[in-house]
Amino acid sequence: MINMYYDRDADLAVLEAKKIAILGYGSQGHAHALNLNDSGMNVRVADRKGSKAWERARKDGLELGTVAEVSQWADVIMVLLPDQYQKEVYDREIAPHLKPGDTLAFAHGFNIHFKQIVPPDEVNVMMIAPKGPGHLVRRTYLDGKGVPCLFAVHQDPSGQTKALALAWTRGIGGTRAGAIETTFKDETETDLFGEQAVLCGGSAELIKAGFETLVEAGYPPELAYFECLHEMKLIVDLYYEGGLSLMNYSVSDTAEYGGMTRGSRIITDQTRAEMKRILRDVQNGEFAKEWIKENADGQPEMKKLRAATQAHGIEQVGVRLRKMMSWLNAGQAKIEVSG
Ligand code: NAD
Ligand code: MG
Repeated sequence: MINMYYDRDADLAVLEAKKIAILGYGSQGHAHALNLNDSGMNVRVADRKGSKAWERARKDGLELGTVAEVSQWADVIMVLLPDQYQKEVYDREIAPHLKPGDTLAFAHGFNIHFKQIVPPDEVNVMMIAPKGPGHLVRRTYLDGKGVPCLFAVHQDPSGQTKALALAWTRGIGGTRAGAIETTFKDETETDLFGEQAVLCGGSAELIKAGFETLVEAGYPPELAYFECLHEMKLIVDLYYEGGLSLMNYSVSDTAEYGGMTRGSRIITDQTRAEMKRILRDVQNGEFAKEWIKENADGQPEMKKLRAATQAHGIEQVGVRLRKMMSWLNAGQAKIEVSG
Protein backbone atom coordinates (compact mmCIF):
# COMPACT_ATOMS: atom_id res chain seq x y z
CA MET A 1 0.00 0.00 0.00
CA ILE A 2 1.11 3.48 -0.87
CA ASN A 3 1.41 6.21 1.79
CA MET A 4 -0.90 9.22 1.54
CA TYR A 5 0.17 12.54 3.03
CA TYR A 6 -2.14 15.38 4.09
CA ASP A 7 -1.80 18.91 5.50
CA ARG A 8 -1.03 17.54 8.97
CA ASP A 9 2.05 15.73 7.60
CA ALA A 10 3.57 18.89 6.08
CA ASP A 11 5.28 21.77 7.91
CA LEU A 12 5.26 25.02 5.91
CA ALA A 13 7.98 26.49 8.14
CA VAL A 14 10.79 24.62 6.34
CA LEU A 15 9.81 26.37 3.09
CA GLU A 16 9.06 29.73 4.72
CA ALA A 17 12.76 30.02 5.52
CA LYS A 18 13.72 29.69 1.82
CA LYS A 19 13.98 32.00 -1.16
CA ILE A 20 11.87 30.38 -3.88
CA ALA A 21 12.30 30.78 -7.64
CA ILE A 22 9.64 29.61 -10.08
CA LEU A 23 11.08 29.38 -13.60
CA GLY A 24 8.36 29.65 -16.25
CA TYR A 25 5.05 31.43 -15.66
CA GLY A 26 2.92 29.11 -17.81
CA SER A 27 0.25 26.58 -16.91
CA GLN A 28 2.00 25.11 -13.85
CA GLY A 29 4.25 28.10 -13.12
CA HIS A 30 1.54 30.68 -12.52
CA ALA A 31 -0.37 28.28 -10.27
CA HIS A 32 2.64 27.29 -8.11
CA ALA A 33 3.80 30.91 -7.85
CA LEU A 34 0.44 32.44 -6.94
CA ASN A 35 -0.50 29.65 -4.53
CA LEU A 36 2.85 29.74 -2.71
CA ASN A 37 2.71 33.53 -2.61
CA ASP A 38 -0.79 33.38 -1.08
CA SER A 39 0.52 30.76 1.38
CA GLY A 40 2.98 33.39 2.63
CA MET A 41 6.15 32.13 0.91
CA ASN A 42 8.97 34.31 -0.45
CA VAL A 43 8.55 33.85 -4.21
CA ARG A 44 10.12 35.30 -7.34
CA VAL A 45 9.24 34.22 -10.86
CA ALA A 46 11.07 34.17 -14.18
CA ASP A 47 9.98 33.94 -17.78
CA ARG A 48 11.22 35.27 -21.11
CA LYS A 49 11.56 39.03 -20.83
CA GLY A 50 8.71 40.76 -22.65
CA SER A 51 6.67 37.56 -23.24
CA LYS A 52 2.92 37.42 -22.50
CA ALA A 53 3.70 35.36 -19.42
CA TRP A 54 6.18 38.00 -18.24
CA GLU A 55 3.48 40.70 -18.52
CA ARG A 56 0.97 38.50 -16.71
CA ALA A 57 3.36 37.90 -13.82
CA ARG A 58 3.96 41.63 -13.55
CA LYS A 59 0.21 42.35 -13.51
CA ASP A 60 -0.26 39.62 -10.89
CA GLY A 61 2.08 41.66 -8.69
CA LEU A 62 4.88 39.09 -8.37
CA GLU A 63 8.60 39.85 -8.15
CA LEU A 64 10.04 39.08 -11.55
CA GLY A 65 13.42 38.58 -13.22
CA THR A 66 15.29 36.58 -15.82
CA VAL A 67 16.00 32.90 -15.22
CA ALA A 68 19.63 33.68 -14.38
CA GLU A 69 18.76 36.53 -11.98
CA VAL A 70 16.12 34.63 -10.10
CA SER A 71 18.19 31.41 -9.96
CA GLN A 72 21.12 33.29 -8.49
CA TRP A 73 18.92 34.80 -5.78
CA ALA A 74 17.05 31.62 -4.79
CA ASP A 75 17.76 28.58 -2.55
CA VAL A 76 14.90 26.54 -4.04
CA ILE A 77 14.49 26.57 -7.82
CA MET A 78 11.39 25.04 -9.41
CA VAL A 79 11.80 24.38 -13.14
CA LEU A 80 8.41 24.85 -14.82
CA LEU A 81 9.66 25.43 -18.35
CA PRO A 82 8.52 23.18 -21.22
CA ASP A 83 10.32 19.85 -20.80
CA GLN A 84 12.08 20.04 -24.17
CA TYR A 85 13.82 23.36 -23.32
CA GLN A 86 14.80 22.55 -19.75
CA LYS A 87 18.23 21.08 -20.50
CA GLU A 88 19.34 24.05 -22.59
CA VAL A 89 18.12 26.63 -20.06
CA TYR A 90 19.60 24.59 -17.20
CA ASP A 91 23.06 24.43 -18.78
CA ARG A 92 23.15 28.10 -19.68
CA GLU A 93 21.22 29.94 -16.97
CA ILE A 94 20.61 27.72 -13.93
CA ALA A 95 23.66 25.48 -13.39
CA PRO A 96 26.14 28.40 -13.10
CA HIS A 97 24.11 29.73 -10.13
CA LEU A 98 23.64 26.53 -8.12
CA LYS A 99 25.26 26.55 -4.66
CA PRO A 100 25.78 23.52 -2.41
CA GLY A 101 22.63 23.08 -0.34
CA ASP A 102 20.32 24.57 -2.97
CA THR A 103 17.29 22.57 -4.06
CA LEU A 104 16.28 21.98 -7.64
CA ALA A 105 12.65 21.02 -8.20
CA PHE A 106 10.59 19.70 -11.11
CA ALA A 107 6.94 18.90 -11.85
CA HIS A 108 7.79 16.02 -14.17
CA GLY A 109 10.71 13.59 -14.00
CA PHE A 110 11.69 13.39 -17.69
CA ASN A 111 14.94 15.38 -17.69
CA ILE A 112 16.32 13.93 -14.47
CA HIS A 113 15.25 10.35 -15.16
CA PHE A 114 16.63 10.36 -18.71
CA LYS A 115 19.80 12.17 -17.51
CA GLN A 116 19.35 15.24 -19.69
CA ILE A 117 19.98 17.24 -16.53
CA VAL A 118 22.55 15.91 -14.04
CA PRO A 119 22.69 18.25 -11.03
CA PRO A 120 25.78 18.33 -8.79
CA ASP A 121 25.80 15.91 -5.83
CA GLU A 122 25.61 18.77 -3.28
CA VAL A 123 22.27 19.96 -4.65
CA ASN A 124 18.97 18.49 -3.45
CA VAL A 125 16.58 17.33 -6.18
CA MET A 126 12.85 16.86 -5.71
CA MET A 127 9.65 16.66 -7.70
CA ILE A 128 6.15 17.90 -6.98
CA ALA A 129 3.81 16.85 -9.77
CA PRO A 130 0.18 17.94 -9.50
CA LYS A 131 -2.12 15.42 -11.19
CA GLY A 132 -3.98 18.13 -13.07
CA PRO A 133 -3.43 21.18 -15.27
CA GLY A 134 -2.21 24.45 -13.79
CA HIS A 135 -5.49 26.33 -14.02
CA LEU A 136 -7.08 23.66 -11.78
CA VAL A 137 -4.16 23.86 -9.33
CA ARG A 138 -4.94 27.58 -9.01
CA ARG A 139 -8.73 27.41 -9.05
CA THR A 140 -9.04 24.59 -6.52
CA TYR A 141 -6.58 26.40 -4.21
CA LEU A 142 -8.75 29.54 -4.27
CA ASP A 143 -11.80 27.36 -3.49
CA GLY A 144 -10.04 25.98 -0.39
CA LYS A 145 -9.43 22.65 -2.09
CA GLY A 146 -6.49 21.20 -4.00
CA VAL A 147 -5.26 18.92 -6.78
CA PRO A 148 -3.69 15.61 -5.63
CA CYS A 149 0.08 15.55 -6.11
CA LEU A 150 2.89 13.07 -6.54
CA PHE A 151 6.18 13.97 -4.90
CA ALA A 152 9.62 12.37 -5.05
CA VAL A 153 13.16 12.89 -3.83
CA HIS A 154 15.95 12.11 -6.29
CA GLN A 155 18.93 13.20 -4.19
CA ASP A 156 19.02 14.52 -0.66
CA PRO A 157 22.38 15.81 0.61
CA SER A 158 20.60 18.07 3.15
CA GLY A 159 18.45 15.30 4.65
CA GLN A 160 15.57 17.82 4.48
CA THR A 161 14.31 17.31 0.96
CA LYS A 162 11.25 15.19 1.75
CA ALA A 163 10.10 17.75 4.33
CA LEU A 164 10.64 20.48 1.75
CA ALA A 165 8.70 18.61 -0.94
CA LEU A 166 5.81 18.10 1.49
CA ALA A 167 5.86 21.77 2.48
CA TRP A 168 5.75 22.75 -1.20
CA THR A 169 2.85 20.37 -1.80
CA ARG A 170 1.02 21.94 1.12
CA GLY A 171 1.81 25.45 -0.07
CA ILE A 172 0.16 24.85 -3.44
CA GLY A 173 -2.87 23.15 -1.85
CA GLY A 174 -1.92 19.60 -2.84
CA THR A 175 -1.98 18.03 0.63
CA ARG A 176 -5.59 19.20 1.06
CA ALA A 177 -6.44 16.55 -1.55
CA GLY A 178 -3.60 14.15 -0.68
CA ALA A 179 -0.04 13.53 -1.80
CA ILE A 180 1.62 10.26 -2.78
CA GLU A 181 5.36 9.60 -2.55
CA THR A 182 6.88 8.12 -5.67
CA THR A 183 10.17 8.03 -7.59
CA PHE A 184 11.31 10.01 -10.64
CA LYS A 185 11.39 6.71 -12.55
CA ASP A 186 7.82 5.66 -11.76
CA GLU A 187 6.35 9.14 -12.28
CA THR A 188 8.10 9.57 -15.64
CA GLU A 189 7.29 6.13 -17.00
CA THR A 190 3.64 6.04 -15.92
CA ASP A 191 3.09 9.63 -17.10
CA LEU A 192 4.52 8.97 -20.57
CA PHE A 193 2.69 5.68 -20.94
CA GLY A 194 -0.60 7.18 -19.78
CA GLU A 195 -0.53 10.11 -22.17
CA GLN A 196 0.56 7.94 -25.10
CA ALA A 197 -1.65 4.88 -24.71
CA VAL A 198 -4.72 6.20 -22.93
CA LEU A 199 -5.17 9.91 -22.35
CA CYS A 200 -3.92 11.73 -25.44
CA GLY A 201 -3.03 9.07 -27.99
CA GLY A 202 -5.55 6.34 -27.21
CA SER A 203 -8.55 8.59 -26.62
CA ALA A 204 -7.92 10.78 -29.71
CA GLU A 205 -7.59 7.77 -32.02
CA LEU A 206 -10.70 6.17 -30.52
CA ILE A 207 -12.69 9.36 -31.13
CA LYS A 208 -11.41 9.74 -34.71
CA ALA A 209 -12.06 6.09 -35.59
CA GLY A 210 -15.63 6.25 -34.25
CA PHE A 211 -16.29 9.50 -36.12
CA GLU A 212 -14.87 8.10 -39.38
CA THR A 213 -16.92 4.91 -39.08
CA LEU A 214 -20.19 6.83 -38.77
CA VAL A 215 -19.38 9.39 -41.49
CA GLU A 216 -18.21 6.71 -43.94
CA ALA A 217 -21.50 4.89 -43.32
CA GLY A 218 -23.33 8.03 -44.48
CA TYR A 219 -24.40 9.63 -41.18
CA PRO A 220 -24.15 13.43 -40.83
CA PRO A 221 -20.79 14.56 -39.41
CA GLU A 222 -22.65 16.73 -36.87
CA LEU A 223 -24.27 13.65 -35.35
CA ALA A 224 -20.97 11.78 -35.42
CA TYR A 225 -19.24 14.71 -33.68
CA PHE A 226 -21.72 14.87 -30.82
CA GLU A 227 -21.75 11.10 -30.41
CA CYS A 228 -18.00 10.45 -30.48
CA LEU A 229 -16.39 13.63 -29.14
CA HIS A 230 -18.81 15.94 -27.35
CA GLU A 231 -20.40 13.23 -25.21
CA MET A 232 -17.00 11.88 -24.22
CA LYS A 233 -16.80 14.62 -21.59
CA LEU A 234 -20.06 13.59 -19.95
CA ILE A 235 -18.74 10.03 -19.66
CA VAL A 236 -15.30 11.05 -18.41
CA ASP A 237 -16.86 13.30 -15.76
CA LEU A 238 -18.67 10.23 -14.41
CA TYR A 239 -15.43 8.17 -14.34
CA TYR A 240 -13.74 11.03 -12.51
CA GLU A 241 -16.46 11.31 -9.92
CA GLY A 242 -17.35 7.68 -9.26
CA GLY A 243 -15.31 5.33 -11.40
CA LEU A 244 -16.53 2.89 -14.04
CA SER A 245 -19.44 1.85 -11.81
CA LEU A 246 -20.92 5.35 -11.65
CA MET A 247 -20.77 5.51 -15.45
CA ASN A 248 -22.59 2.19 -15.69
CA TYR A 249 -25.10 3.34 -13.09
CA SER A 250 -25.81 6.62 -14.89
CA VAL A 251 -26.18 5.46 -18.48
CA SER A 252 -29.17 3.45 -19.72
CA ASP A 253 -29.18 -0.33 -19.27
CA THR A 254 -28.97 -0.59 -23.05
CA ALA A 255 -25.81 1.50 -23.14
CA GLU A 256 -24.34 -0.43 -20.22
CA TYR A 257 -25.00 -3.84 -21.79
CA GLY A 258 -23.94 -2.77 -25.29
CA GLY A 259 -20.76 -1.22 -23.94
CA MET A 260 -19.80 -4.18 -21.76
CA THR A 261 -20.34 -6.71 -24.55
CA ARG A 262 -18.71 -4.67 -27.37
CA GLY A 263 -15.93 -2.68 -25.71
CA SER A 264 -13.59 -5.66 -25.51
CA ARG A 265 -13.93 -6.09 -29.28
CA ILE A 266 -12.39 -2.62 -29.68
CA ILE A 267 -9.58 -3.00 -27.15
CA THR A 268 -8.38 -6.46 -28.17
CA ASP A 269 -5.41 -8.67 -27.28
CA GLN A 270 -3.62 -7.02 -30.17
CA THR A 271 -4.22 -3.58 -28.59
CA ARG A 272 -2.92 -4.85 -25.25
CA ALA A 273 0.19 -6.28 -26.90
CA GLU A 274 0.81 -2.90 -28.53
CA MET A 275 0.37 -1.17 -25.16
CA LYS A 276 3.12 -3.41 -23.78
CA ARG A 277 5.41 -2.38 -26.65
CA ILE A 278 4.65 1.30 -26.01
CA LEU A 279 5.48 0.80 -22.33
CA ARG A 280 8.70 -1.01 -23.22
CA ASP A 281 9.83 1.89 -25.43
CA VAL A 282 9.16 4.28 -22.56
CA GLN A 283 11.10 2.10 -20.09
CA ASN A 284 14.12 1.44 -22.29
CA GLY A 285 14.48 5.11 -23.26
CA GLU A 286 13.64 4.63 -26.97
CA PHE A 287 10.79 7.12 -26.81
CA ALA A 288 12.92 9.67 -24.94
CA LYS A 289 15.69 9.32 -27.53
CA GLU A 290 13.21 9.86 -30.35
CA TRP A 291 11.62 12.92 -28.70
CA ILE A 292 14.98 14.53 -27.90
CA LYS A 293 16.07 14.06 -31.53
CA GLU A 294 12.73 15.37 -32.84
CA ASN A 295 13.32 18.57 -30.85
CA ALA A 296 16.93 18.85 -31.96
CA ASP A 297 15.68 18.65 -35.58
CA GLY A 298 13.10 21.42 -35.04
CA GLN A 299 10.03 19.17 -34.55
CA PRO A 300 9.41 18.21 -38.23
CA GLU A 301 7.23 15.17 -37.43
CA MET A 302 5.33 17.09 -34.76
CA LYS A 303 4.46 19.87 -37.21
CA LYS A 304 3.22 17.37 -39.80
CA LEU A 305 1.08 15.47 -37.33
CA ARG A 306 -0.34 18.63 -35.80
CA ALA A 307 -1.37 19.90 -39.25
CA ALA A 308 -2.99 16.55 -40.08
CA THR A 309 -5.05 16.70 -36.88
CA GLN A 310 -6.18 20.23 -37.61
CA ALA A 311 -7.27 19.17 -41.12
CA HIS A 312 -9.29 16.16 -39.90
CA GLY A 313 -13.04 16.28 -40.61
CA ILE A 314 -13.91 16.13 -36.92
CA GLU A 315 -12.00 19.36 -36.36
CA GLN A 316 -13.76 21.12 -39.22
CA VAL A 317 -17.23 20.25 -38.00
CA GLY A 318 -16.18 20.78 -34.37
CA VAL A 319 -15.22 24.42 -34.91
CA ARG A 320 -18.67 25.10 -36.36
CA LEU A 321 -20.62 23.25 -33.71
CA ARG A 322 -18.75 24.73 -30.78
CA LYS A 323 -19.59 28.22 -32.09
CA MET A 324 -23.23 27.35 -31.37
CA MET A 325 -22.26 26.79 -27.74
CA SER A 326 -21.08 30.27 -26.83
CA TRP A 327 -19.77 29.11 -23.45
CA LEU A 328 -17.15 27.04 -25.25
CA ASN A 329 -15.65 29.97 -27.17
CA ALA A 330 -12.86 30.44 -24.64
CA GLY A 331 -11.37 27.10 -25.72
CA GLN A 332 -11.36 28.09 -29.39
CA ALA A 333 -9.73 31.43 -28.55
CA LYS A 334 -6.91 29.57 -26.81
CA ILE A 335 -6.10 27.48 -29.90
CA GLU A 336 -6.18 30.57 -32.12
CA VAL A 337 -3.79 32.49 -29.84
CA SER A 338 -1.30 29.62 -29.46
CA GLY A 339 -1.67 28.25 -32.98
P1 NAD B 1 3.91 25.93 -20.26
O1 NAD B 1 4.29 25.75 -21.67
O2 NAD B 1 2.48 26.20 -19.91
O3 NAD B 1 4.76 27.13 -19.63
C1 NAD B 1 6.12 27.26 -19.79
C2 NAD B 1 6.55 28.72 -19.57
O4 NAD B 1 7.95 28.78 -19.73
C3 NAD B 1 5.92 29.70 -20.57
O5 NAD B 1 5.35 30.80 -19.87
C4 NAD B 1 7.11 30.15 -21.41
O6 NAD B 1 7.04 31.52 -21.80
C5 NAD B 1 8.28 29.94 -20.45
N1 NAD B 1 9.56 29.74 -21.14
C6 NAD B 1 9.82 28.95 -22.22
N2 NAD B 1 11.11 29.04 -22.55
C7 NAD B 1 11.69 29.87 -21.67
C8 NAD B 1 13.01 30.36 -21.49
N3 NAD B 1 13.99 30.00 -22.31
N4 NAD B 1 13.26 31.21 -20.47
C9 NAD B 1 12.26 31.58 -19.64
N5 NAD B 1 10.99 31.15 -19.75
C10 NAD B 1 10.70 30.33 -20.75
O7 NAD B 1 4.47 24.65 -19.46
P2 NAD B 1 3.69 23.72 -18.41
O8 NAD B 1 2.65 22.91 -19.12
O9 NAD B 1 3.32 24.52 -17.21
O10 NAD B 1 4.85 22.67 -18.03
C11 NAD B 1 5.87 22.99 -17.10
C12 NAD B 1 6.31 21.71 -16.41
O11 NAD B 1 5.22 21.20 -15.64
C13 NAD B 1 6.74 20.59 -17.34
O12 NAD B 1 7.81 19.90 -16.73
C14 NAD B 1 5.51 19.70 -17.41
O13 NAD B 1 5.80 18.36 -17.72
C15 NAD B 1 5.00 19.84 -16.00
N6 NAD B 1 3.58 19.52 -15.81
C16 NAD B 1 2.63 20.13 -16.57
C17 NAD B 1 1.29 19.86 -16.35
C18 NAD B 1 0.20 20.55 -17.14
O14 NAD B 1 -0.94 20.21 -16.95
N7 NAD B 1 0.48 21.52 -17.99
C19 NAD B 1 0.90 18.96 -15.33
C20 NAD B 1 1.91 18.37 -14.53
C21 NAD B 1 3.24 18.68 -14.78
MG1 MG C 1 0.82 13.93 -17.27
